[in-house]
Amino acid sequence: MASYDVFKPLFTNQFIGGEWTASSSPNRIAVENPATLEKFAEIPDGTVEDIDRAVDAAYEALPAWRATPLEKRRALMQRFLEHFKAMRQAIIDLEAAELGAPIAFGANAHCDYQFVRIQSYIDEVEKVVFEESFEHSTVIREPVGVVGCITPWNYPIGQIVQKVIPALLTGNTVVLKPSQSTPLTACIMMEAFRLADFPKGIVNLVSGRGSRAGAELALNPKVAMISFTGSTAVGVSLSQQALKTVKRISLELGGKSPCVWLPDLPDYRPAIKPLFNSIFLNSGQTCTALSRLIVPKARLTEVEKLLLDHVKDYPVGDPFDPKVLIGPMASRQQFETVKSYIELGVKEGARLLAGSIPEEPGAHEKGWFIQPTIFTNVKNDMRIAREEIFGPVLCVIAYDTVDEAVAIANDTPYGLNAMVVGPKAEAQAVARRINAGNVYINDAPRDVTAPFGGYGASGIGREGGRYGLMEFTQLKAVFDHSTY
Ligand code: NAD
Repeated sequence: MASYDVFKPLFTNQFIGGEWTASSSPNRIAVENPATLEKFAEIPDGTVEDIDRAVDAAYEALPAWRATPLEKRRALMQRFLEHFKAMRQAIIDLEAAELGAPIAFGANAHCDYQFVRIQSYIDEVEKVVFEESFEHSTVIREPVGVVGCITPWNYPIGQIVQKVIPALLTGNTVVLKPSQSTPLTACIMMEAFRLADFPKGIVNLVSGRGSRAGAELALNPKVAMISFTGSTAVGVSLSQQALKTVKRISLELGGKSPCVWLPDLPDYRPAIKPLFNSIFLNSGQTCTALSRLIVPKARLTEVEKLLLDHVKDYPVGDPFDPKVLIGPMASRQQFETVKSYIELGVKEGARLLAGSIPEEPGAHEKGWFIQPTIFTNVKNDMRIAREEIFGPVLCVIAYDTVDEAVAIANDTPYGLNAMVVGPKAEAQAVARRINAGNVYINDAPRDVTAPFGGYGASGIGREGGRYGLMEFTQLKAVFDHSTY
């Protein structure tokens, strides 16, 4: 018996108004295990009526929730977190089954780190200044209203946490439409809200396709804000729809993030693990993946040897095998996309240093597996260097001068993430010249309270910590220095 079997009856329902309820349509969407190709669960193919019912529930619940004192909201969220933590094994196993996330990586990135993030929001919301005295006025931070959250498949819980938790803590109500390809952990999250006795209608889940359920969230006039994470193309078209009713829009989109290795660092070995973890773990299906490695031309041969030596440390295979670091791609569609980019790289004249054109499932293994792939001799104007591949594919680009390295790093429509590796002071100086919302220096860890988000085509708005909480608020100025 799988750890998540007890939750299976939830998967085929919507969570609306505090209850598990049938969709208005009997149609279902199958959920495939990308390692075995077994269709192991089904979700409703959510309808416009489902979304409208969920939005009505959230709209009705809004006045009471926004009037609920912050301390009460925080206490409820803490209770939710305890219930959610009790579901830990089910979360890990479900992410292995629906996404193909290897269990060791999944336990950390898809589960425990998300608990840390939730706790951080509960703590940080106390530091948000909800009321401020100005010279002749009081400025008040208020909730935006009903928030429609639309999330992608690559970090199923993580992307939901970044939206639903801060939205609720700041007094908004929520309708969530998760990705139809990894929708299951969202269901058990809703069950944790139910068990924590969240008031009915505060948080609602509609499973279904983006083109129908997602699109209706953007159109429904009672929705005040759309918080979207996904591809740049969908984000842009969704925003155009949402602007018809002048909704607040927050977008977390794609990336093509650079990792610059500076010439003066004597030993690049410590830089390999953070780079490979970023581009290979989660099968490279990470928006912040460092997909362009920018290195001094004079040290290219040394770099190629290092990369080749260490790529063996990233075994691919069955996500339930604890030794495996890389599982399958999340779906056939993602497999085909990444495969076509590897074929394109060869056609464009890049040299395959590691990996090969992936074989279709059945040749050796059943699932959508792709070996970690490294292209060298890449020019930044090649499509493999410009477009988001969203797979375990690294492009190595050589430069002559540090100015050229910075120019290559910034020569992208995106600006989500970057890393600069080198002597600390030099790396800090280069970091300030990079156009990205996040820049890591050497082996620096992430700070969960720092803002996360992109420049340029990588998005609008910030998630995480106080800035992420404030994203779900709007400002009211009250001119209260009256004479009577
Ligand atoms: P996607 O844009 O295809 O889908 C994202 C969500 O939008 C899904 O829930 C989908 O059902 C929904 N959707 C699709 N079409 C829609 C429409 N017409 N109207 C409304 N909703 C619609 O993205 P994906 O393939 O699920 O995710 C991968 C993308 O997400 C990558 O580009 C990645 O970089 C990006 N991403 C960004 C971040 C970030 O924080 N910046 C994080 C994770 C993923």
